[in-house]
Amino acid sequence: MTALHVHSLHALAYCERLFYLEEVENLRVADARVYAGRRLHVEIEREEAEGEWLTLTLESSHWGIVGKVDCIRRRDGMLIPYEHKRGRSARNDSGEPDAWSSDRLQIIAYAALIGEHSGKAVNEGRIRYHADNVMVRVPIDGTAWRLLSEAVSRARELQASVVRPPVTENERLCVNCSLASVCLPEEARLAKSLDEGEDGPQKKRNDERMSGRNARSSPIRLFPADDDRRSLHVVTPGAHVGRKGDRIEVVPPKTVDSSPTLYPVQEIGQIVLHGFVQISTQALGFCSQQEVGVHWLTGGGRYLGSWNPGVGSVQRRIRQYKALTNSDLCLRLAKRLVEARVRGQLSFLLRTSRQSGHGKTADVDNAIAVIRQLLSPLLRANSIHSLRGYEGSIGAQYFKALPHLISDAAGDTMKPEGRSRRPPRDYGNALLSFAYALLLRDVMNAILVVGLDPSLGFYHQPRSQAPPLGLDLMELFRVPLVDLPIVASINRRQWDETADFQKAGQQVWLSDSGKKKLIAIYERRKSDQWKHPVIGYSLSYSRLLELEVRLLEKDFMGEGGLFARMRMR
Ligand code: SF4
Repeated sequence: MTALHVHSLHALAYCERLFYLEEVENLRVADARVYAGRRLHVEIEREEAEGEWLTLTLESSHWGIVGKVDCIRRRDGMLIPYEHKRGRSARNDSGEPDAWSSDRLQIIAYAALIGEHSGKAVNEGRIRYHADNVMVRVPIDGTAWRLLSEAVSRARELQASVVRPPVTENERLCVNCSLASVCLPEEARLAKSLDEGEDGPQKKRNDERMSGRNARSSPIRLFPADDDRRSLHVVTPGAHVGRKGDRIEVVPPKTVDSSPTLYPVQEIGQIVLHGFVQISTQALGFCSQQEVGVHWLTGGGRYLGSWNPGVGSVQRRIRQYKALTNSDLCLRLAKRLVEARVRGQLSFLLRTSRQSGHGKTADVDNAIAVIRQLLSPLLRANSIHSLRGYEGSIGAQYFKALPHLISDAAGDTMKPEGRSRRPPRDYGNALLSFAYALLLRDVMNAILVVGLDPSLGFYHQPRSQAPPLGLDLMELFRVPLVDLPIVASINRRQWDETADFQKAGQQVWLSDSGKKKLIAIYERRKSDQWKHPVIGYSLSYSRLLELEVRLLEKDFMGEGGLFARMRMR
């Protein structure tokens, strides 16, 4: 059995869920504040106690723990481990300075390591809290050994479990927790309160919240509102992507008269290679290290696959597989998903047809009426099969109405005629197909970042190269991220039929300039901020993609209820 790190015991005493996320699910973020940030580095010791510091990595076979002890001092012949913390000390019942339980456990573990290696008893550990300049002495006695023993047993128990512990009841811990953005404690508490209120007196309030009418008591947003890393699309055929130091270099083909471009890797979240673009193994390895996803699309815009370093996600996948064998849960999730998409379609039809210049036509009115009629039986569907039937009928109505949202001034040729996918047969469909491929790539990236298996979904069947879970999640974003900006761009007359498209017989594809234009429109739309009607906080669509995957994962864990509650207004 591998030894437990002392810092993992520190996490365990801070919050069991944190221990589980870090040590069992192997999730870490670059700026782990909980442990590293609150611990003052050894340099302080160097300044303050020249000659009395040392750094030792020690392992105890008795306790099964390993740790790096930064400072040991000798006082009156006794060895004493020291630990420095940036923050303030805790207070005991009498208001006296005390050690936080996580720090106490950590210093006890160091005492155990030093005692075993020196062969001498360690009777005391000391923790200095710099914010209030307090030194707390921790006695190493029977109580201390009992604490350590209980912590080690609990850690071993959690390591053997596939169940992620619940969020801590001490909400203040979450505010400083480095893993809050993946744990989503506020969302878990909200989902729990909604669930508890399902049949109780809180039902009315919860119904209002679910419908987006009451988001007053919104959770604190611990999930980042926007991405600080962007997608790098390489579209030029023959371009080469390589690594140069800490940067990604894109070298254009010799036939193109331009210089190589360098991008700092910390600014890139994903690299998207379109068509005949090469990438070196060094660049791929570097992307793995830096957690940058790499995705391939054909020149025509079909999604081919992804390279993602992935994280240790066995437990997440076991929970996903188990959850998806539950047909009731699959139907519940599928209904929520389809309802979200249909409501988005309805709201888009209503909103765009009301805008000036796009007079409401009988066709749009008719489609809206039929979709509304089909919505009620859809919500009562008792099988995935019948749900698909309703969704298909609604989709047909929607795509029949879509051309009527395009103004006459934009030209009839830009109006999509129904939905032609493979291959697209008109300009409008060429735009939709390419943008849906971009969306699938983004959804896939989010699924891989969260650590779920894209090949197992709850609604779509495996039938093409596209992974079912990716297709499932795409449903939520088709209208806001693709249909809406594309129709708006056509109405703004942004497209040049000659320069932006290529025709080959019955098929219509985007040219390089068309792809670049559409990528810019799509990426801009992703950075738009949007307020979640149920959760109640604002974030970019780009972050919303990941948030929805994390909320779905919560449904797999039994903390569900918030996935696919998004509604377009
Ligand atoms: S966010 Fe809160 S519940 Fe989640 S791991 Fe951190 S402290 Fe624990």
